Amino acid sequence: MPTALLWFRNDLRLDDHPALRLALERGFDVLCVYVHAPHEEGAWAPGAASNAWRARSLDALDAALQARGARLHCVHGDSVDALQRIAHEADARAVFWTRRYEPAIEARDAHVKRQLRDAGLLAQSVNGALLHEPWDVATKSGDPYRVFGAYWKTAQAQRRPWRAWSAPARIPAAAPGAQACRDLGIGAPASLGLAPRVRWDAGFWDTSEPGEAGALRALRRFIDTALAGYAEGRDAPACNGTSGLSAHLHFGEIAVGRVVSEVEASAAPREQVDAFVRQLGWREFAHHLLHHYPHTAEHNLDGRFDAFEWRTSDEAELDAWRRGRTGIPIIDAGMRELWHSGRMHNRVRMLVASLLTKHMRVHWSVGARWFWDTLVDADLANNALGWQWVAGTGADAAPYFRVFNPVLQARRFDPDGAYVRRWLPELAPLPDKAVFEPWTAPDLVRRIAPDYPRRPIVDLARGRDEALAAYQALHRT
Ligand SMILES: Cc1cc2nc3c(=O)[nH]c(=O)nc-3n(C[C@H](O)[C@H](O)[C@H](O)COP(=O)(O)OP(=O)(O)OC[C@H]3O[C@@H](n4cnc5c(N)ncnc54)[C@H](O)[C@@H]3O)c2cc1C
Repeated sequence: MPTALLWFRNDLRLDDHPALRLALERGFDVLCVYVHAPHEEGAWAPGAASNAWRARSLDALDAALQARGARLHCVHGDSVDALQRIAHEADARAVFWTRRYEPAIEARDAHVKRQLRDAGLLAQSVNGALLHEPWDVATKSGDPYRVFGAYWKTAQAQRRPWRAWSAPARIPAAAPGAQACRDLGIGAPASLGLAPRVRWDAGFWDTSEPGEAGALRALRRFIDTALAGYAEGRDAPACNGTSGLSAHLHFGEIAVGRVVSEVEASAAPREQVDAFVRQLGWREFAHHLLHHYPHTAEHNLDGRFDAFEWRTSDEAELDAWRRGRTGIPIIDAGMRELWHSGRMHNRVRMLVASLLTKHMRVHWSVGARWFWDTLVDADLANNALGWQWVAGTGADAAPYFRVFNPVLQARRFDPDGAYVRRWLPELAPLPDKAVFEPWTAPDLVRRIAPDYPRRPIVDLARGRDEALAAYQALHRT
């Protein structure tokens, strides 16, 4: 049978895999390739936490392929060069892959496609990552949407029925030639050296299981235990009230269509299912925005903010924010959760981002970079949208003048302080009031948590007033 390359990227699964399905339906033997080419991702080469997840996900994919008589052949290098060399030596006729939508990758992929076609190969990409391709949803005048509600209404109206597909028990496989293996250093996933040598990621795996099987288990757990109370539970950082699917979705370990179809088929109340599917809608919207406004990974979508007076960041303050030593417990708990687990609850992401961009008035891109390196679910589209939404500079964003008070937010969403106590065990013995505002009980804190900061790094009232003044100055110009 003729051979086709299946170029795996952020689609690290076998079921519901349109590119794999296409290759098999066209009668090809499949040569599975993963090219690690971070230098082709522009300013956004994957961060350290992301690579730690990727290492495990590639191992899981390779094991699943081996169980079906195939293998994942991994190589570090230039995508065009690697694909052409491998295709040439294996006498392959085609290359199939799943589309990605990050600006540098879209440009790289267009180049790859041209080069492969010029070399006489069939080169075909398909959608396997989103419910809707970014260009398929448009306003009546054909423009991209900038408001989520309107975007989602149109997208929902266009939704087509989902059809599940299971990978066959045996995948007819081809292997790269011996010369290509030697010259390119093709090997198993471990040969890419992505797993950290010093095990700083150990805490990540307490709650996360990278790979397709882990993604399915996370979905089942969510449907069985949390979906029925999602609309309320999703805002409580101490509860396991959300799906935990973000990294699985980012790496394509599960198809978003399957997630939607399984939650919709569940017995959970309709409004709870809708509330969850709507969050997946934000993921779709984020990709829509990044595709149509590619500068927004780094620059304000709302150009009026280009003249905003951000403060030059003070390294000591920034370091306190990054390390979870701001003296504001809900913020520090979030940053320590991130450091330990590679995750942070969405509500707390909003609070730490608000403190940085409003009380500290640091440009949102500084925070986005830190998240990029430390989150296992770091995703260019979702991260840019999240940061710009909180900073007030994005599409359909929270207005800049809405400044979260982290103490009130903590009291509201973590009323018994369980989340703060879990991540700041040194503060656990404090009574409830003091656990949210330790500066109100300085003697007690000195005694039980002598290393915890005495005062917040920013005065919350003053920081808020200064942020509002800067915002008003912007509107006067
Ligand atoms: C400042 C900031 C930065 C963020 N950075 C990222 C990021 O790099 N990667 C990332 O995947 N999410 C990011 N988010 C969105 C959100 O916080 C995470 O998707 C969510 O916390 C993941 O947990 P979950 O899978 O349990 O979510 P659930 O509540 O179970 O939601 C289901 C899925 O919907 C999607 N989703 C949920 N909320 C959002 C949202 N606000 N925007 C876009 N998609 C969403 C995710 O794919 C998520 O897995 C960010 C949010 C903020 C405020």
